[in-house]
Amino acid sequence: MLELRPNCELCDRDLPHYSPDARICTYECTYCVACVENVLHNVCPTCGGNFVPRPIRPHKAYRDSKKLGLGHHPASTTRKHSQWSVEDVRTLVEVLRNVPPDKR
Ligand SMILES: [Zn+2]
Ligand SMILES: [Zn+2]
Repeated sequence: MLELRPNCELCDRDLPHYSPDARICTYECTYCVACVENVLHNVCPTCGGNFVPRPIRPHKAYRDSKKLGLGHHPASTTRKHSQWSVEDVRTLVEVLRNVPPDKR
C-alpha cells in the first residue's frame, strides 16, 4: 500500500494527504511539484525514475467488505529527508533529465 508521506524530501514543505502538489516515484519517494519541476527535472534523486501526481486517498470506506480509506489507512506522519547532497542531486539530474523514463 502507498505510504502517504507528510513532506517534500527536498524542501521539507508540508504535503498533507489531500495535497494536489505531491509527486511520487515508484518507490514512494515524495516531493513537491515545485522541486520536481524546477530542481529535479522529473528525475528522482534516489532511484533515477520519473514522478507522477500522488493520488488522493478517500476519507470514507465505500465497500463494506473492504476496510479501506483514510479511517483504516491513515497518512504517515514520519517526515523523510533526502540523504543526498545538492551536488549528488545535480549530478544524477544532469545525467538523466533528457533521458525518457522508459530508457533510464
Ligand atoms: Zn519541495
Ligand atoms: Zn525514487
